[in-house]
Amino acid sequence: MILFKRAAELTGWLQNQRSGGKKIGFVPTMGALHSGHISLIDISNNNTDITVCSIFVNPTQFNDPKDFQKYPVTIEKDIYLLEKAGAAVLFLPEADELYPGGTDKLETYTLGSLETLLEGKYRPGHFQGVCQVVRRLLDIVGPDHLFMGQKDYQQCMVIQRLIDLQGYPVLLHPCPIIREPDGLAMSSRNMRLTEDQRKKAPAIYRALTLLKEQTVPHLQVEQGAQGKQEYGKALISRARTLLEENGFRIDYLEIADARTLEPVRDRNLQEKKVALVAAFLGEVRLIDNMNM
Ligand code: AMP
Repeated sequence: MILFKRAAELTGWLQNQRSGGKKIGFVPTMGALHSGHISLIDISNNNTDITVCSIFVNPTQFNDPKDFQKYPVTIEKDIYLLEKAGAAVLFLPEADELYPGGTDKLETYTLGSLETLLEGKYRPGHFQGVCQVVRRLLDIVGPDHLFMGQKDYQQCMVIQRLIDLQGYPVLLHPCPIIREPDGLAMSSRNMRLTEDQRKKAPAIYRALTLLKEQTVPHLQVEQGAQGKQEYGKALISRARTLLEENGFRIDYLEIADARTLEPVRDRNLQEKKVALVAAFLGEVRLIDNMNM
């Protein structure tokens, strides 16, 4: 694996590869790598000639400074895991490489309702920061394929929007969520959980499973629209209780239209749905989702 710290050197090296006909896959990360990240490297390796992984804890996407300060850094282990997975390139820039003019006055993007719904609502400015860093990384790497986790469902939608806005010739592949054996979605933030919190954390998976298993049959029952909505509320309320009993403080728990993320209010069986949740255990904020 070749390690680049300078953007210009990486861009030059990749231009050579591209002119030799190689297809480039890109996996952007913030490090503290786990099997979820490595699954993206594997998918990229299976679909492209050269996999570039970046590790950069992007300050502009943290709306909570404490979360940024406490973000785990495990760079030696990350390098070991990436070598083992067969990534060709690691891009490991310092902040001034990506933001040479600082981070005070950065550009903004028109993200529509993605910026006000769910994560957008609870983490103001977060998706602007995500776009700011991903745009810079895409300009430097110029990949043919971009691999991101459905774990960050709304983020995938935001990045597709960025790609459309900028007209980048890159194909985004949203990849499946990798979970621990007890159902907890893998996340770099899981390592900040105490032993007791870690035991309670899979309740987030059980709450989503409850919504998935109960929603389809309930939508199929013949009832008035009002009756359905009430049933939906009761179901969400059961799932909320399950989380709260396990010590979670909930930001949101919703069933939404999988294409728009607007809350589902009717019983249209055709429309694809997704249940999404964000909740705190102590200071650690976990997110997860499940297609219904
Ligand atoms: P992060 O380092 O948290 O910014 O994540 C980097 C990429 O890995 C993003 O595209 C995430 O969606 C993805 N990712 C994180 N956790 C998982 C997981 N459990 N399964 C699949 N992909 C994941």
